[in-house]
Amino acid sequence: MENILKYLFPPKCIFCGVQGDIFCETCLAECSLLTSQYCLVCDLPSENGNTHERCLKRFGGLAPARLLCAYSYSGKVRDCIKFSKYGARQFLSLRKLCMEATSVCAEIWGSVAADLCLPIPSSPKKLSYRGFNQANMVAEEVSRSFKIPLRKDLLVRSRNTEAQHTQSREGRRENVKGSFAVTDRRELAGRKILLVDDISTTGATFLESARVLNEAGAAEVQCFALSKREKVCYNSPAYARA
Ligand SMILES: [Zn+2]
Ligand SMILES: [Zn+2]
Repeated sequence: MENILKYLFPPKCIFCGVQGDIFCETCLAECSLLTSQYCLVCDLPSENGNTHERCLKRFGGLAPARLLCAYSYSGKVRDCIKFSKYGARQFLSLRKLCMEATSVCAEIWGSVAADLCLPIPSSPKKLSYRGFNQANMVAEEVSRSFKIPLRKDLLVRSRNTEAQHTQSREGRRENVKGSFAVTDRRELAGRKILLVDDISTTGATFLESARVLNEAGAAEVQCFALSKREKVCYNSPAYARA
């Protein structure tokens, strides 16, 4: 059925309009892959995205062990993530980008082994906005391609956080404190978790989620982000997301 629909209504690239795919190969090739990975805590380069020993210690072992990011949050990647909020076609183009991201990441950085794949939960406010959930979409593709069971129910928001405008790295960490809760500690105890989001900015969201999961008894927490905001200017008005 999907093939017949594709034949009758061939998809067009949302960027260049060429027929054949919703995010064409040419436009995908223009997306800038990260050539190195960074420590989630201090944002300095780190091998394979592993959190530095000193940074792990700083958080008493409750920080994620690793952060893997596919793309720089810029150009068509930024547009794709932004547009994906506005309609079903745009949302589908995000799936295409996620498929590309996981396959390229596996090629360059190796696949990720974990017992459970958890998306970062949206705040209720954000989710009600047309129902397109970016983190869920990325997690679905990560789960499929790395063959890690997806669980959307184990990590939840416990409160709405303030919009994260004009806040320092430390300020953002304070702001997300207490925003997450686990629903079933038995399901998490001793398990290796892969946390997934569409954008990593200061790492505050990942750091706080990982803290909650580690405190609930997880054996290890790793993070995967579709994109990473590089060299953030925290006071820029364009800056609006964790
Ligand atoms: Zn195109
Ligand atoms: Zn570090």
